[in-house]
Amino acid sequence: MSDIDIRQLSKSYGAYQALKSIDLHIPDGALLALLGPSGCGKSTTLQLLAGFDTPSGGEIRAGGELISSPQRVVPPERRGISLVFQNYAVWPHKTVAENVAFGLKLRKLPRAELDARLSKALEAVRLTPLRERYPFELSGGQQQRVALARALAVEPRILLLDEPLSNLDAHLREEMRFEIRRVHDELGITTVYVTHDQGEALVTADEVAVMKGGIVQQLGSPEDIFERP
Ligand code: ADP
Ligand code: ADP
Repeated sequence: MSDIDIRQLSKSYGAYQALKSIDLHIPDGALLALLGPSGCGKSTTLQLLAGFDTPSGGEIRAGGELISSPQRVVPPERRGISLVFQNYAVWPHKTVAENVAFGLKLRKLPRAELDARLSKALEAVRLTPLRERYPFELSGGQQQRVALARALAVEPRILLLDEPLSNLDAHLREEMRFEIRRVHDELGITTVYVTHDQGEALVTADEVAVMKGGIVQQLGSPEDIFERP
């Protein structure tokens, strides 16, 4: 586990400043929502957290270690970070268990360790009974739980969720929201949750950073943010 410290982080694409100067501290084990309309800089922030891109200025530290600055970008696979995207990205020709084990196989873990981690991750999202099924046999919510289990299996210190519910219908969205909260309460992994949906941020997050035009406009508990007139 680890905290995340973002200081004066900026990112320009050519002459366009997508992030102007972001300061954010995410305590160890917290679940922070990055909330804001399309184009406000949420994905850019997430890309920098993941190590997919280089900031134009400022820095990001995880557990005190410098992981992103204009001079230094620790590659994604060395950050202890897992991602879940909106479009699940599960492999259709692999079973649930094979999907979840994928990242573990890349790490060449001993068989017993791999099996133990696989079982733990499947159990965490309550997919154990479906482990031999294929994605086409699952609902959208179950497929999203496969993606979540795959992210958890590598035991990340940080979890990044990019609009994880936006491909689900209203009923499944609610179920998955509850699932994410439950898994977070159980495992306590430091989590950044990107969404444009206020309701999602309100019920899921401990803390909400409201972004607008490349800055963090407001930061506080869901109650602080949403109870204001
Ligand atoms: P959000 O995730 O909140 O919708 P983004 O971080 O994707 O916002 O985008 C912030 C701004 O930066 C937008 O105006 C977007 O058009 C711009 N942008 C994002 N990525 C690129 C890129 N690779 N090249 C040029 N402009 C980009
Ligand atoms: P241990 O492996 O000794 O149980 P851990 O700190 O690894 O200790 O895990 C504590 C509990 O958290 C485990 O019992 C398990 O239920 C859950 N857990 C930890 N890591 C994961 C993971 N990657 N996927 C699913 N569950 C996990």
